[in-house]
Amino acid sequence: MSISKSAENLIGKAQEGKDLNRKEIIQLLSLPAKCSSELFAAADKVRKEQVGDEIFLRGIIEFSNHCERNCLYCGLRKGNSKLSHYRMTEDEILATAEQIKKTGVATVVLQSGEDSFYTQDIVCHLIERIRKETDLIITLSIGERPLNDYIAFQHAGANRYLLKHETASAELYKYLRPGCEWKNRSQCLRQLKELGFETGTGNMVGLPGQTPEILADDLLVMKLLDADMLGIGPFIAHPDTPLTGIDHDDLDMTLRVIAAARLITRNTNIPATTALATLHPQGRLLALQAGANVVMPDFTPEIYKTLYDIYPGRTDVGPAVEIISCLEKDFQFIGRTINYSIGHRQVK
Ligand code: SAM
Ligand code: SF4
Repeated sequence: MSISKSAENLIGKAQEGKDLNRKEIIQLLSLPAKCSSELFAAADKVRKEQVGDEIFLRGIIEFSNHCERNCLYCGLRKGNSKLSHYRMTEDEILATAEQIKKTGVATVVLQSGEDSFYTQDIVCHLIERIRKETDLIITLSIGERPLNDYIAFQHAGANRYLLKHETASAELYKYLRPGCEWKNRSQCLRQLKELGFETGTGNMVGLPGQTPEILADDLLVMKLLDADMLGIGPFIAHPDTPLTGIDHDDLDMTLRVIAAARLITRNTNIPATTALATLHPQGRLLALQAGANVVMPDFTPEIYKTLYDIYPGRTDVGPAVEIISCLEKDFQFIGRTINYSIGHRQVK
């Protein structure tokens, strides 16, 4: 299906790596539906040229579902009284990290709710043991913490930190995360970046009240921060949260945001998120063909996995080794292979 000359020019400009202003990003996200495949193809070419054909794996351990925050969108929110809680012990986390190591995956993402049970000392001890006993590269995803915690985590051996900004609209952020301020989130991100963490940010697509303008601002936040990793996933409504029933089928828009992120930020690491795989059976493969180059298999032990109930219908159940062998087959299908190495962002 042919697309207009102006759409072709805009996609071409983005593909060449020329700077797009806010208006042009909004236009890119608002192109008619028939332009999606050209947009995804342009992002796929830039992905190939900038970060290659290999897919990097990060093993996730969701080690606690306790959370002191009350984010309107998340099933782990403090106000969800239906949730059964767990915390993995240090030994359980170490045993899971060992399993990740055995599969050949070189990096672990430690994720949890905002849980003050894990003091600076506890987190540092955990980091030190994982580094010493497995040598895995560690990404933390444990929310907003004071600057001196970030410094201590880095000294203990953590190299990466994932803290999605969630939405670039300060107003929407405040509504969705009661008691939280966008400026604090953005300060944490700047601190992490300045400390030298490989820093990940990102957003959710399909949030109530979100507009193409806000999504364009999300992309500008990612660019301005010079983020190294971008987690972009669809919002999926959880039945036990205030946003129950607000369901959007935002597959196309999520893929567009991923594609635009690749075109705008060029050499970043962009995961094909679990949320996309949950939204659509082909979501992960579609993302990998629209700019994404990372997959994050979930290694959380089965007894805890279903309790990490951020949103309903999460896929990736079953042992991680089986998940990886399924992924390998899927990747072959689209002509891609797994790279088991660390996969630092290649700053050119
Ligand atoms: N507590 C930490 C934080 O908020 O940064 C890390 C854990 S939190 C569960 C990880 C991510 O889950 C968040 O950054 C958010 O984008 C995502 N998330 C939460 N609820 C979601 C939902 N209903 N749909 C899609 N993603 C969701
Ligand atoms: Fe807690 Fe993170 Fe969920 Fe917010 S998104 S409720 S901080 S786990």
